[in-house]
Amino acid sequence: MTAISQNGLPMKRSLTSLISSLASSDNNCSREQHCLECGQTLTSRGARLQVCLECRAVWVAPSAFESLVEAPAGALEDLLGVEANSQNTHQATESGRGCPACGEVMQNYEYGGLWLDACQSGHGVWLDPGELELLRQSATVAR
Ligand SMILES: [Zn+2]
Ligand SMILES: [Zn+2]
Repeated sequence: MTAISQNGLPMKRSLTSLISSLASSDNNCSREQHCLECGQTLTSRGARLQVCLECRAVWVAPSAFESLVEAPAGALEDLLGVEANSQNTHQATESGRGCPACGEVMQNYEYGGLWLDACQSGHGVWLDPGELELLRQSATVAR
């Protein structure tokens, strides 16, 4: 199911449009998934959210992404089960990382001025350690 032709150019698209195009799909993949940063097994926080307890990277279903970004600080800790990593260890996104669920190379999507990796099949949005905090800050500014 490859909708994108291989033209060698990185796809630059809006995450919001990906989310709306996938409104009904969820990350319901039950097989064990691993952190793209450090290789740890991701810990499930419900059907739509997984967290790496090692580096606090976050893997979230597109349908849950915006509620995560907009969650109040207290609720966010409950959702993640850990304090969010406020240190941005994120480096310029290297493209070519595979989706933890299906292994397909993820695409870059723009959201709030940041480029995020997301699976174009809608398995999830990958947030590097600290990226969630950055997103939440930009969401607060935009409000
Ligand atoms: Zn990790
Ligand atoms: Zn995928």
